[in-house]
Amino acid sequence: MTGVSLKELDKVRARLRDGYESFGYLDAGTDYPAFTLPRQLERVPPHRIELSEAETERFERLQAECIKISLHDHLCVFPDPVDQTPDYVREGRVTTAFEGLVDIGYDAVFDALLNGLCRIESKSGWKWQDVIHDLGMRLCDIAHQNMVLVARRVEDIRRAHREGKIAWIVNLEGAAMIENELDRIDILFGLGVRSMGITYSEANALGSGLKETRDGGLTAFGRKAVERMNKVGMLIDCAHAADRTTLDTIETSTAPIVISHIGARALWDSNRLAPDEVLEACAEKGGLIGIEAAPHTTITHDRPEHTIDAYMEHFEYVRDLVGIDHVGFGPDTVYGDHVGLHHLYAPALSIQESRTGADQPHRAEYPQVEYVRGLENPTEASHNILRWLVQRGIPDEDIEKVMGGNALRVLEDAWH
Ligand SMILES: [Zn+2]
Repeated sequence: MTGVSLKELDKVRARLRDGYESFGYLDAGTDYPAFTLPRQLERVPPHRIELSEAETERFERLQAECIKISLHDHLCVFPDPVDQTPDYVREGRVTTAFEGLVDIGYDAVFDALLNGLCRIESKSGWKWQDVIHDLGMRLCDIAHQNMVLVARRVEDIRRAHREGKIAWIVNLEGAAMIENELDRIDILFGLGVRSMGITYSEANALGSGLKETRDGGLTAFGRKAVERMNKVGMLIDCAHAADRTTLDTIETSTAPIVISHIGARALWDSNRLAPDEVLEACAEKGGLIGIEAAPHTTITHDRPEHTIDAYMEHFEYVRDLVGIDHVGFGPDTVYGDHVGLHHLYAPALSIQESRTGADQPHRAEYPQVEYVRGLENPTEASHNILRWLVQRGIPDEDIEKVMGGNALRVLEDAWH
């Protein structure tokens, strides 16, 4: 822990609040088509975990002392109405939520780029140039301000914490865009990508995704890709890989891997969540499991309505299963209407196939929510997760681990 007080941190953050808005170096509407965007904070009524005075003091101390890392989020803003999203993404200028980030509690965030996600933009599949365009455009925007820094090594995260900045870590959710070219891993690393999924939900040249009914495991090319990622020093993520593919990746990788946004299938039977065997294998190799909060994912039989309490039930389960050293948070939240996005992209994201087990469709059995109470956007989630841990009386040492210490340990190894 470092001795920065919250007051000092606030002072630094205040200095950094230069009011920069995404693409503020251009004239919206003249230089590029402007889209209507929602409020970045309080788009819906905010929900704050209530704390006593003593708990608030402890929360503020931990907020200042701990290095806090989100293993998976989307720091962009989606248009309002959300059905403008395909045009917005196709335009190729995705807004970073600098306003929302001013108050975010994290020191570092793995930001998943949209074009690393799926066929959101292109009908012809995962296009290499879409990913490069998206990455370059986000980097250009970030280069025009001071609050967010691009993290390329662990020291950058520590520096962000010291200086009250936010370390932006680039993640691609799947590796389909490398096609069958290993050298593209080097190129992506060179351009700043520090974490990549083996597959998104569909199969690719590396292995099977979680929507596939037959999981062929890691392919011969997938093994080579894992080796290359190890050698280059890129973190491997299996959040959307199928079970066998994840187990093969864990076995093949010489570095610990992350399953950055997932929950426990033991609590709710869905392909989007992982069985105990997979969670345990990840931990045994020194890896890390981040708990997912995208709407309607981490619900449980006791709490079928998705709120922060259902979410934290997954955290407690995984912690009890694999130990405090192997769990963290990858809430996968967005600035905008996440539930609306799921409806819009249901076929492309294979939401239905990946959400329910093929044999036991749960679809009708849980209440639909408009947003996840307590975890509506990255900023709200960053505060409420820590508040929840404080409210439950989790010891300082454990909070420090799950909020970021575990991630730092894994990154020291995976990024060498
Ligand atoms: Zn994801």
